[in-house]
Amino acid sequence: MSDSLASQVAAGEVVERPAAVIRELVENSLDAGASHITVEVQKGGSALIRVADDGCGMGREDALLSIERHATSKIRTKEDLAAILTFGFRGEALPSIASVSRFRLATREKDSLGGTEIEIHGGRLAGVKEFGGAAGTTIEARSLFFNVPARRKFLRADATEFAHVEQQFIIHAMAHPRVTFTLIRDGSVTFHLPTTTTLLDRIRGIVGEELARRLIEVKPVSHKGIRVSGFIGGPGLSRSNRQQQLTFLNGRPVESNSINYGLREGFHNSLMKGQHPVTFLFLEMDAAGYDINVHPAKKEVRFHDGFAVRDALARAVREALEGAARLPEGHVQPAAPRPAPQVALESRQQSFALHVPARPMPAPAPAPALTTLVAAESPSTLPPGSRPVEPAPSSASELPSAAVADVKHEPTMTQTTPEPEEPARERPDLRIIGVLHRLYILLESDEGLVLMDQHAAHERVNFEKMRRAMEQGGVPTQRLLMPLTLQTSPRDAVILRNHQEPLARLGIEIEPFGPNTFKVEALPTFLKTDDPLSWLDQVIEELQTLSSKGSSLRLGEDMIATTVCRHSIKANDRLALPEIEALLDSLFACEMPYCCPHGRPTLIQMSLKELEKKFGRLAP
Ligand code: ADP
Ligand code: MG
Repeated sequence: MSDSLASQVAAGEVVERPAAVIRELVENSLDAGASHITVEVQKGGSALIRVADDGCGMGREDALLSIERHATSKIRTKEDLAAILTFGFRGEALPSIASVSRFRLATREKDSLGGTEIEIHGGRLAGVKEFGGAAGTTIEARSLFFNVPARRKFLRADATEFAHVEQQFIIHAMAHPRVTFTLIRDGSVTFHLPTTTTLLDRIRGIVGEELARRLIEVKPVSHKGIRVSGFIGGPGLSRSNRQQQLTFLNGRPVESNSINYGLREGFHNSLMKGQHPVTFLFLEMDAAGYDINVHPAKKEVRFHDGFAVRDALARAVREALEGAARLPEGHVQPAAPRPAPQVALESRQQSFALHVPARPMPAPAPAPALTTLVAAESPSTLPPGSRPVEPAPSSASELPSAAVADVKHEPTMTQTTPEPEEPARERPDLRIIGVLHRLYILLESDEGLVLMDQHAAHERVNFEKMRRAMEQGGVPTQRLLMPLTLQTSPRDAVILRNHQEPLARLGIEIEPFGPNTFKVEALPTFLKTDDPLSWLDQVIEELQTLSSKGSSLRLGEDMIATTVCRHSIKANDRLALPEIEALLDSLFACEMPYCCPHGRPTLIQMSLKELEKKFGRLAP
C-alpha cells in the first residue's frame, strides 16, 4: 500500500468532515501553546479551512516531519506512550488532511528568522519554500476531498457543515478561556472571544448575555474523587437537542453514557420530557479512572466506575438547582432612575384585561451562533429580561484547574455537604396585586412584577407533598366503602400484578380478583375525580409507557408528577386571597419552587428596568 493511499485510508477515519479537520488543527494549536487561534472557513469548510496560531511553531525539519505518517513530536516519555494506548495512534492528523485536500503549512519558530512553507496536493508534495510571516503556524486545507469524489459527495449543505464547525469551535473555546479565539465565516467574523480568566466570561462571549444570565453556577464539589464544576441552565431552561450539553473531562471535551445518565438524574423533575439541559460542566479526576475510546474521530470516554461519575454529576446538578431556586434579592439596577409613583392597582381578586403576550418575544440580537439554538428553545422559556435565577456573583467562577493530582484526596461530598433535607428558604417579599385571566397571579416584588402560574405552582406544591409522603412510607389513602371492580386486558393485568407494591405506595391498593379482574380497595386521598376507573385506566397506560422505556425505577416519581398534574387545581379555579397567600407560602417551602414537576416555570419576573425599557423610559 503506497503511503499516499495509507494516508487516504487513515483520512477516512480522522477526517470525516470539515469539523473534524478543525478539531485536529485546533488541538494541535492548543498543544503548541498558542494564545491566539483564528479559525476561518469558506463554504462550510469545503472550499477552505484555515487555522492560524501564535504557538511555538516548527523548524524546517519538524515541519517536514509533521506531514509524515506517525510522525508525532508528542511521545517523549513512557507516560506519553501510555497515552497513545488511551487516545489512539498519534501523528496521523496532518498527513491525513494533506492527503485529501490542497494543503498548505506555513510555520515559523519565535526565535528563528526564517520559517518554512510546505504545499501538498492530494498527498503529493508540491513545494517547500522559505516563509517570512509571523511566528506561529498557519495550516490551510482547500477543496477538501477534491481527489476523493465519493467522499466529497457526502459533504452536506454548507450551512450544515458550518454548524458542525461552529460546534467544534465552541467546544474548544469553552475549554480554554485564556486563549483568544476567532471564527471567520466567508470573510466575516462570527465570533471573537478575547482572552479571559473566568469561565463565565467565556460562556457569555459564546452564548450571549441573555442566556448567560439564566445560568446557575455549579460550585466545585467532589464525590468519590470526581470533581464537578461549571455552569448549568436553571429550572425551566432546556433545549430540544444536545448542542448545549457540553461536558469536559480534565479539560477535554468528552461524551459518555454515564455522564448523560448523571445529568438526566440530576435534572430529573426540572426538565420536560424529551428536552435536554444546558450544561457547561467540567469533571476532573485521576486519569487512571477512565479510557478514551480508541476511535480517532470520537471522544467517547468509558469510566471504570461509571456509577460514581453518574452520582457525582447528579448530586452536583441537583444541589446547584436547589440552591439556585430563589428569587434574586435586592435591586437589580441601583443606577436606574426611580420609577414614577405607581398607580395603585389594589383591586384584589379581579381579573385585569392586561394584554400579556403569550409567547416569549424574540431575544434582542442573540449571539450569531445561537440563532438556531434560540429558535429551538422550548416555548416555556422566559421573555427577555425576566430573571428566574441569577448566578450568585462569586469567586468560584474561576477556571477549573487542570491539575487533578490532588483530587483523590479531597473528602467526598457526603462529608463536606450534608444532604439538603429542609431547605431553609424564606418566602420573598411578594405583594398580591390581582389575578389575570383566572390563571396568573400578579405579584409585586422589590424588583418589579412577578407573575405566578397558579396551576404550575399547585403542581409543584402537590408534587413535593406527595413525594415526601411516598418517601415516608406512602401517600395518604382512602379506603373505599365498596371496593370497585376493574376489568383489564391480559396485558394490563400483567403490569398491574407486577407493580402492586409501587402502586400501594402511591395510595392505590389493588388485589387480583380472577385472571383479568382486580378489586380496587383504596385510592389516594388527593384524587379529585368522579370517575376513578377511567383515572386508573390512565394510570395503567402510564405504567405501560414507563415500563416499556425501562424506567420503572422512576415509576413512583413519574407517576406522581403526571397524575398530580392532572388532578391539581385547574387553571380556571378562582382563588381567594388567603388561598393565594397559602399557595405562596407552600410554594416557597418547596425544594424547587421555580418550576413545576414537568419543568415549566411557576414564576416569572419582569424587572422594573425591563418595564422601563419597554415604556421607553430607559434607553435600551
Ligand atoms: P499529533 O498531534 O498526534 O502529534 P498531528 O498529525 O496532529 O499529530 O501533528 C503532527 C506533529 O506536527 C505534532 O506532533 C507537532 O509536533 C506538529 N504540529 C502540528 N500542528 C502544529 C502547530 N499548530 N504548531 C506547532 N506544531 C505543530
Ligand atoms: Mg494532533
